[in-house]
Order: sequence, then structure tokens, then C-alpha cells
Amino acid sequence: MTTSPIPRFDLLQRDAYLMMAIQFSRGCPFNCEFCDIISLYGRKPRTKNTEQTLAELQTLYDLGWRGSVFIVDDNFIGNQRNVKRFLRDLLPWMIEHRYPFTFMTEASVNLAEDDELLSLMVETGFYAVFLGIETPDQDSLHVSKKLQNTRHPLVEACHKINQAGLLIYAGFILGFDGERTGAGDRIQAFVEQTHIPQPMLGLLQALPHTALWERLKTENRLKLKEQTPIGDQNTLMNFEPTRPIDEIAKEYVAGFWSMYEPSRYLRRCLHQCLSIGESNLEPNKDHIDRKTNPQPPPSSRKQTMKFPLNKGLRLVAQVIWWQGIRRADMRRQFWQQLIEILRKRPQMFNLYIGLCAAGEHFWQYRIQVRERIAEQIGYDLLSPSSDSLKTHPVSTVLKVPETVSH
Ligand code: SF4
Repeated sequence: MTTSPIPRFDLLQRDAYLMMAIQFSRGCPFNCEFCDIISLYGRKPRTKNTEQTLAELQTLYDLGWRGSVFIVDDNFIGNQRNVKRFLRDLLPWMIEHRYPFTFMTEASVNLAEDDELLSLMVETGFYAVFLGIETPDQDSLHVSKKLQNTRHPLVEACHKINQAGLLIYAGFILGFDGERTGAGDRIQAFVEQTHIPQPMLGLLQALPHTALWERLKTENRLKLKEQTPIGDQNTLMNFEPTRPIDEIAKEYVAGFWSMYEPSRYLRRCLHQCLSIGESNLEPNKDHIDRKTNPQPPPSSRKQTMKFPLNKGLRLVAQVIWWQGIRRADMRRQFWQQLIEILRKRPQMFNLYIGLCAAGEHFWQYRIQVRERIAEQIGYDLLSPSSDSLKTHPVSTVLKVPETVSH
């Protein structure tokens, strides 16, 4: 990592991007059975040094980029000593440059256990984090060796991270060994309880070289002959699960369908944005030299998604047109929620409107999920009379909503 050159950001058509990407670390100290990060990059997270990473940010700054930067690490907090060192040096840089960027990244849930790390991230301008929650079922977390998610109640961890100032994106998985009926319903309940706007629900896939792959191979449960593509979120599992595949698939489709029902989605966006930054966590500012660094702007003003101006204005106009004017079924909710955000948390406007816009993708995508699974199972799993629909494609029974044209 320490010999990695500065990426040629100058070659990018930067105005075609919503956010830029940099990488600080590789690898993860944990041992999740299904994860190939640890077999690809190891369990000793390696990092760039601070000077390297700041040089990358300075390059983006000099090229005129202002907006969001995705730190695309496997687990940004995998090496806690180095990440804190980096964040302590990033803070004065951000203050000196008047917070030109906001950041999002991926991290393990144990982020909630470290107040110093949380407050450093918030103070340096992080606005969102992707968490691998996978499931609220403790037995499945044990089976998959995701033990870091069992140490503290997951709902509390999410609330803490959210209230400290970070929007939560999260991944969930169905299909673990020994999984009990209703796992999909429990994921849905968890998502509603934590107001996670965009839960990424997937079916478990065994990836080559993982501990899961090796175990299933020994147990002769891999479906190797079928040459199922691996890693596609809408592909049925590539091994024999321990409960009926129809049951898992049905919970998957029902979960996606229900969680991305438009009014439910928009409501979660509202509640998540309203609860961001309600924490009592005192930001750790001991390391700031106040003689050389001016006071940073209030946290609440910098913790949001940033868009380049032209993109931002276009996005706002499109969302208002489609959700606030064209769609009769969501018009009322859209305006009520928009007024509530502007009244209670105007600093969250960008983030909120960005989430509303992303809804357009997910409302289409849930139809695709239902169709793809129906193709593989042979019938539409959500139809009240599944048997009669075995001969009908899903698209004939679903109304596809109009979408924003990009
Ligand atoms: S915490 Fe995430 S990156 Fe680390 S081993 Fe588990 S799944 Fe992989």
C-alpha cells in the first residue's frame, strides 16, 4: 500500500461522477466465513500512510473536485491505530481547506464500540458508512463466524452510529445454515426499527477460496456443475441450503418488495435523516492546534452528501417533478416530508433529496428482483395464487412505475 502511486484522477471525466473514490487500506482482521476479502487481502489490514492519502486528496482538490469522496476500503477501521492516525492528520487539512469534501466508507459494526473513532470520523467530514450487518439472528451470526456483530445489540449499535452523525447503509444476507423460517421478516423488522433507508439484501453465495466454500465442498453441497454465476445479488444460492430454497427465495423477494415499497422507503429516509447527529458524543478535539487551525464549522453543517452545483440543481428539479408533481400516489407524502426536513433539519436537505432520488432506482429494481427470482424458481413467489401464475411472467401482473429519466 505504501508504494501505491497517486491515481491519475486527471484522466477522469470528473463531471460525470457523483463521487470520487480513494482507498486507504486493504484487508480485514475479522473472520466471516463467507467473505473473500480475507482470503484475497489477508487478515492484517495494510494501510497507506497519511502523507500518501492526503496527497491524493490534495490532487483532487487541485483538480477542482468539491463534493463527496468514497473511501472504498474493505473495512476502513480494520487497522484502528493507523486509521486514527490518519484521521487526526486529516482534520487540520480539512479545516485548512474549509471542508471541500464529505466522505463515506465501509466499516464493521464494532465502529459503535469506539467513541473516539466515531467522533474523529464525524469531525473530519464523514457523512455515511456502509455496515455489514447481515442478519439480526444471533444463531446465524455465530454460524457464519460474524462474531463481532454478536458482542452488542445491533439495534443499539446502529442508533449510536446514526446519532453520532453518520447515515447508515447496510448489507443483509439470507440463506445461512440453520436459518429459521421468518429470517426475512426479522430483517425487515430490523430495517424498520433502525430506519436504514437502503438495505442491500442478498442471497448467500459461496465464493471460491472462502472458508464457506471449503466447508460446503467437503460436505458435497456446492452446485458446481450448474455453473451458476457467482456474486449476482439476484441469483439463487450456488449450494444446497439447509431449508427449502423456495422458502428462502420467497422471503428474499417479499423482503425486497416490502422494504422498497415507495412510501415505506421514503418514510425511512425521513426518519434516518431526522435522527442523524442527535448524539451526546463529545467530539474529540484535543489534538487540534487552535493557534494554527481556525474553529471547524459546526458538525451538523458538514455532515451531508455534497453534489457539484449543476448536478445538485438538476437532481432537485427532477425529484420535485417526479415525486412532488407527477406521481399522484406519493405527492402528499413527498411534500409533507420535505417540509418536515426543511423545518427540523435543513442541513440534511442534500442527503434527504439524494435518498429520494435513489428511490427511483430501487422501485424499478425490486421489480427486476421479483422477475429474476421468478425466472429461476419458475413462478411468481408473491402472487396470491402462485400456481396460476406459473405460466405468466411477472411483468404482466406488475405495474412498472414511471421513473426519472437520467
Ligand atoms: S467484517 Fe466484512 S470485510 Fe471483514 S471479514 Fe467480515 S465480511 Fe469480510
